[in-house]
Amino acid sequence: MNSFEIVVVGSLNVDVTVDVPEAPAAGQTLLGGDARRSGGGKGGNQAVAAARLGRRTAMVGAVGAQDGDYLLSILRDEQIDVGGVRRVDGPTGQAFVFVDPEGDSTIVVSPGANNHVEVDRDLVAGARCVLLQQEVPAAVVEEAASVANGLVVLNPAPARPVAASLLANVDVLVPNRGELLGLAGVDRGDLVQIAQKLGTRGPVVVTLGAQGCLVVEAERSTRVPAEQVKAVDATAAGDSFCAAIADAVLDGADIVEAARWATRVAAVTVTRHGAMASLPTRAELGA
Ligand code: ATP
Repeated sequence: MNSFEIVVVGSLNVDVTVDVPEAPAAGQTLLGGDARRSGGGKGGNQAVAAARLGRRTAMVGAVGAQDGDYLLSILRDEQIDVGGVRRVDGPTGQAFVFVDPEGDSTIVVSPGANNHVEVDRDLVAGARCVLLQQEVPAAVVEEAASVANGLVVLNPAPARPVAASLLANVDVLVPNRGELLGLAGVDRGDLVQIAQKLGTRGPVVVTLGAQGCLVVEAERSTRVPAEQVKAVDATAAGDSFCAAIADAVLDGADIVEAARWATRVAAVTVTRHGAMASLPTRAELGA
């Protein structure tokens, strides 16, 4: 059996990005700029982020007939194993991204093939780390976490209710603030107490955008400030952050050290445009 350092179970999308003069409103037709296509999806982004950090990485996902080859070739070019990516009838996942002049995006995701991911249990069981997000059905995420023998990292994005049995199988949970509150079913509150009560079997790292992150362990919490950089596009910041957490923990770092490394990796990501295009290599990080 082939075993990998990081197996990502998640979504693969074609991102179709159009610059628009303003965020689209209900019932409005807007004229935008030329459409740009690129590879994306939280799963795909995290797999590319892990591979660029030098990890032997495999992807478990699904693509449709149209655009499937395009996404597979992007992953293969990054040396990512795609044996766990199913080809299904019907459309490939797509994200339609409308970017206004302030750089804020309005995004519509059409999941397509991502609703038909099947967990390659051998691949997942053999991995040193399994990296999960929530752009695939909940049953897929739950199955992957339950068969994993290595480190389980869950980025609970986009937000949705999560079964207690899933959280009990998570070693590192990486929500942003909104996702953490959503998981706890509250509108506000003390982030440390909320994270400590969630029921994961390991730490929770709450990402806070330009404010950095909060590392919550059973007995302590640590604030890690973001790096001061000129941010131009936060797309995939969270994805690079999650892959870097996995990367550092696999090297034996404790969770606070891992968060510092992830902060550094994500800081580079926000200084560049695009999703996969913005993800740094280990060499670029000077590490
Ligand atoms: P996304 O879904 O867009 O990937 P997210 O909400 O999951 O984002 P954020 O909390 O926005 O994730 O960002 C993740 C990490 O990226 C932050 O914890 C921080 O380390 C880094 N980061 C984000 N924005 C900035 C910024 N403006 N400057 C420096 N670092 C940033």
